[in-house]
Amino acid sequence: MAYTYDDQNIFAKILRGEIPNTTVLETDHALAFRDINAQAPEHVLVIPKGPYVCYDHFALAASDAEIVDFTRAIGQVVQALGVGADGDGYRLLSNAGKDGVQEVPHLHVHIVAGRHMGRMLSPA
Ligand code: 5GP
Repeated sequence: MAYTYDDQNIFAKILRGEIPNTTVLETDHALAFRDINAQAPEHVLVIPKGPYVCYDHFALAASDAEIVDFTRAIGQVVQALGVGADGDGYRLLSNAGKDGVQEVPHLHVHIVAGRHMGRMLSPA
């Protein structure tokens, strides 16, 4: 299966500095910034800097260095928000494709925290 990356997506524009963002963390291969439409008191998006459409694309095509950096960045954001380990917890999710209701076609994981999240899925 071929992945087609659209470099005009909003997160590509954020990475190029064409659209502002509220950065939480930047690493060699990842950027974490606050979601513009927060669904919880804490809502941070973590994206790789490389052109990956979704999680499976990244997991299959990214270099080991990118995968390690991105994964560690997620851990660092959780730690910075104070919701991991002894904190109150969080939800980590990544939407992909039509059925996953992915709005922006550049891989991003959502870290949401600061309130009880309820059950994992609700009816469509
Ligand atoms: P998806 O539905 O693709 O998993 O989530 C896309 C997320 O990107 C949404 O939560 C939406 O609020 C967020 N978003 C869309 N445009 C922007 C933007 O320009 N800046 C920021 N910070 N977040 C955005």
